[in-house]
Amino acid sequence: MSQHIKGIHDKQAEFYIKNGSLPVKERIQQLKKLKSEINFRENEIIEALKLDFQKPVFESMVTEIIVVYKELDLFIKNLERWSQPKSVRSSVLNFPSSDKIHHRPYGNVLIIAPWNYPFQLAINPFIAAIATGNTVTLKPSELTPHTSTILEKIIKKIFTEEQATVIQGDKEVAQQLLDLKWNYIFFTGSVAVGKIVHQAASQHLTPVTLELGGKNPCVVEASAKIQLTAKRIVWGKFLNAGQTCIAPDYILVEKSIKPRLIKALKEEIIAAYGKNSITSPDYARIINQSHFERLKNLIEENKVLFGGQTDADENFIAPTLIDEPQQSDKIMEDEIFGPILPIISYENENDLKKIIRSYSTPLAFFVFTENKSFANKIMAQFPFGGGVINDVVIHFANEKLPFGGLGNSGIGAYHGKHSFYCFTHQQAIVDRKTWLDIPFRYAPYHNKLKWL
Ligand code: NAD
Repeated sequence: MSQHIKGIHDKQAEFYIKNGSLPVKERIQQLKKLKSEINFRENEIIEALKLDFQKPVFESMVTEIIVVYKELDLFIKNLERWSQPKSVRSSVLNFPSSDKIHHRPYGNVLIIAPWNYPFQLAINPFIAAIATGNTVTLKPSELTPHTSTILEKIIKKIFTEEQATVIQGDKEVAQQLLDLKWNYIFFTGSVAVGKIVHQAASQHLTPVTLELGGKNPCVVEASAKIQLTAKRIVWGKFLNAGQTCIAPDYILVEKSIKPRLIKALKEEIIAAYGKNSITSPDYARIINQSHFERLKNLIEENKVLFGGQTDADENFIAPTLIDEPQQSDKIMEDEIFGPILPIISYENENDLKKIIRSYSTPLAFFVFTENKSFANKIMAQFPFGGGVINDVVIHFANEKLPFGGLGNSGIGAYHGKHSFYCFTHQQAIVDRKTWLDIPFRYAPYHNKLKWL
């Protein structure tokens, strides 16, 4: 165990035991400072994301920076009100009393973040954890070193090491962190590592949020508006070059409309990225060579309907459509997490059930249809984290909605006020009054039962 890591952990634990949380007003001041520091370094963040994997400027602004400002504004505006204890009606048995729910920080929080949205998936949970009065140790991804370094600079500028620290490093470092006792662990990443995190947390019965992945189905039913469907799918699938946990993983299209959908998808890909997507400034690269190789190996040439071009020097994979893979094909085994979109046709709802149920609970589920009863039926039929009717991905963008998975795709949820709840323990406190004492509950009970 590195002395540095242990030292920081112990300092934060000691700090919390000695000082508890800073007053809410001070925390709000810190959030304001954090916002201006991010604002000051906006160009640096965009540049870092470009260096890490050529994230397009527009995508960096919209999906990494503006969402963070929104979260900060929400906490700055509401933290004081949210932090107030909430009075609830006293029960007859407790009468007279004042009963309240207090929102207590957990204490020392560990956040482990992934690389695909390396700024916002690290800083958004951080904002909520620090705003609610916890100390935070944040380990960003080693695959996006430029962004991780900016994160470290920003946090160092505003917070003392005892209150919040960034520890950079790979899985060895993450494992050392997981060997220590935390009061809460918030993890975003793959299912396989999520299980490792959950196991480590269980040693200390530490509560966790696990934000994981899965194979997200996207059903296109016969009544769907084809061109609009294609436009929305193309945006959500090829955003960040498909490296989005809630991207549609595969399309299930009603057989009769499949040719029209394929034609529309091709048109929309060209409209978004041009005929030669490698030259588009709006198309990201694959994060590293090993993911590039993994994805390239998923493309079976004889099943490519569109795209399929790759460039190893740039870790570039073109937006690619794959026709009717078998469920036994490699591409249908695990979450794709890249710009390759399998298209599978179905004839009836039984086909749909068979395919969707053969995978573990997805993080997201999408259905395109003008038939509301079909949409409602299918949304109620399968378990999944969250979903959208007639669009993809956008449920992430409304902070009023809880964001999280279910089963294999995760445990717990966050965003906005849900993040406030995520990082606080809801503590019940009954303040019993002494001016009256109803004797009913005390022994001897005799025949008190007859009063119930
Ligand atoms: P990952 O699980 O490989 O890594 C995530 C973090 O865990 C990194 O910081 C990494 O250093 C650390 N880590 C890696 N191996 C570890 C180990 N053996 N022990 C302890 N820590 C370890 O995930 P990734 O490749 O960074 O991200 C992609 C995955 O994350 C995809 O599966 C995607 O669906 C998922 N994801 C989920 C969400 C969500 O909100 N649910 C968001 C983004 C990504």
